[in-house]
Amino acid sequence: MIAHEHLMTMLTRLHLTAIRDQLDSLLDEAARQELTLRETLAFLCQREIARKDERRIQMGTRIAHFPCIATLAGFDYAAQPSVDERQIRELAACRWVAHGENLLLLGPPGVGKTHLAIALGREAILSGYSVLFVTAPALVASLAQAHAAGRLDEKLAHYAKPKLLIIDELGYLPFEPKAAHLFFQLVSRRYERGSFLITSNRTVSEWGVVFGDAIAATAILDRMLHHSHVITIRGDSYRLKDKRRAGAVFHQPVAPSTSHQPA
Ligand code: ADP
Ligand code: MG
Repeated sequence: MIAHEHLMTMLTRLHLTAIRDQLDSLLDEAARQELTLRETLAFLCQREIARKDERRIQMGTRIAHFPCIATLAGFDYAAQPSVDERQIRELAACRWVAHGENLLLLGPPGVGKTHLAIALGREAILSGYSVLFVTAPALVASLAQAHAAGRLDEKLAHYAKPKLLIIDELGYLPFEPKAAHLFFQLVSRRYERGSFLITSNRTVSEWGVVFGDAIAATAILDRMLHHSHVITIRGDSYRLKDKRRAGAVFHQPVAPSTSHQPA
């Protein structure tokens, strides 16, 4: 009995909580499978790693503050021919995040920019990177508020920390004049260290208007585009497409794996 408690204490101290919590059933399982000692050790490690990975992904997803769930498996490439599946798969491997490169997803409303941004953010978490999702208006409001309260540095540090910062919906609302400068400070702080994934309904050439400050826009774009991938999605809104399909006389088979979330 004492030996058992001692073992529990040691497993706790080593943070091997999956092994600790399921020790009896895991050892029973190993016995049933007639595993050797070496195989048993590998089996226990496997379970511990699986639990740690699961926890890490859960925690990373919570910290990322995604507005909804969206996956690459749920993206219907047939419905969006301007998106190159190979390129998205390549980006899903997250080498661009490892290298601190940026990704811009541009296109009109409803074409799947936010969906892809969340799905790629999810892939980054699976690859072990920290991710934070924020809308451009929320980001700018939060920086402006911190600036007014004399805590800008703290806020910049907060947004500079995640390896991947996803800024959704840049350009739906024009920036206040002061906001462009705050945004520039964030871009410089993250430059060549962390990646941006930005979605926008505006082309890059329209960003001067978005920022309301041509000089700041040039400085921001200069850094943003230096190491970047730009994907321009064309075509119709996916939501309207669904409606058109629903009203069609001849129904096309719809890919079964699509998971739609209200944006
Ligand atoms: P955007 O951000 O470009 O305005 P969203 O990503 O919000 O568009 O897409 C609108 C809705 O349509 C979301 O529910 C999204 O999941 C879905 N959607 C868009 N494109 C696709 C697609 N190609 N496959 C599956 N779902 C899609
Ligand atoms: Mg969107």
